[in-house]
Amino acid sequence: NMRILLASRPTAAPKPADFTLDRAAIPEPSEGQVLLKILYLSLDPYMRGRMSAAKSYAAPVEIGAVMEGGTVARVERSLHASFKEGDTVLSHSGWQSYAVANGSDLRKLDPAVAPISTALGVLGMPGFTAWAGLQNIGRPKAEETVVVAAASGAVGSVVGQIARLRGARAVGIAGGREKCAFLLEDLGFDAAIDHRGPDFADQLARACPKGIDVYFENVGGRVWDAVFPLLNTFARIPVCGLIAQYNATPGDTGGADRLDGTMRSVLTKSLSIRGFIQREFASQRDQFYEEASDWIAKGKLRYREDIVDGLENAPTAFIGLLEGRNFGKLLIRVAKE
Ligand code: NDP
Repeated sequence: NMRILLASRPTAAPKPADFTLDRAAIPEPSEGQVLLKILYLSLDPYMRGRMSAAKSYAAPVEIGAVMEGGTVARVERSLHASFKEGDTVLSHSGWQSYAVANGSDLRKLDPAVAPISTALGVLGMPGFTAWAGLQNIGRPKAEETVVVAAASGAVGSVVGQIARLRGARAVGIAGGREKCAFLLEDLGFDAAIDHRGPDFADQLARACPKGIDVYFENVGGRVWDAVFPLLNTFARIPVCGLIAQYNATPGDTGGADRLDGTMRSVLTKSLSIRGFIQREFASQRDQFYEEASDWIAKGKLRYREDIVDGLENAPTAFIGLLEGRNFGKLLIRVAKE
């Protein structure tokens, strides 16, 4: 069983040496358990938080423990009444090639409905995050302008497309020409702006002639600096992620103090800024699944996956995710389907 363990807690950007590749015996399932062979591992920005001991909404991974993560797996052996050999399931088995599970946290997947990898992306946690943040906090109305950053990624790509399905205008912010072209040509965004461009703030202003009504925050930092002067009165800001600061050391703001400016616009523009962790809305998951599956079947919701082969490549791929090197939902193919 190949496993990737947390070797040390990074202080800034994670390095390959913060992970250890380890080999152990394939675990034996007991009565009531299944043995899972992992096919896909999801790599997500929240894992950077799990590497740190700083207080957060979830407990950190311990040093020497297997890195945590969502997985799609095949049941290899079953000593559980509800699962049989060959079933495909969504599990939370972490960065390893085999795992045992007791069934309580497994969801059976039907490969006939959608490719099984989508259970980690567009039809999984990231897709639900986009849907729930817009549905409950952003609440875009027809003709409004919705801006989303990290727009070509797992969450942002769904945010922009749902905004359009709700009749709003979608403006995406992404890193580089290729990602921007993808937003316009493949996903149907109304505008796409490169946050690495020298005139980024001016371009964003030109792309939002009527201001911004909903800003779905995935990034923070310099992107927020460009967005907040454009916000309209009563704008809604679901705060979903702040990836630009995940590798920062505590207290490091890159020299900028954003608090006074931000608070002033909260007051003068009557902004609603509301953070959320997707599982708060868990009771709405079935509703999301139904609506998103239908959109996918009708070709109204598209997705892009960035699949890296081999569990041993997970650390490098994860480090790249925090630098924008992925293009689409980042997955590791741990074993062939
Ligand atoms: P993505 O697939 O969007 O991948 C991350 C992307 O973030 C990169 O490709 C890069 O895109 C962008 N990025 C990375 N570093 C920076 C930076 N310094 N400045 C600007 N952009 C950067 O990831 P996800 O869709 O999985 O996650 C997007 C956000 O949603 C994250 O902040 C994540 O933490 C959050 N999230 C929150 C959840 C919740 O419950 N609140 C649940 C799931 C995700 P580019 O090249 O375009 O810059």
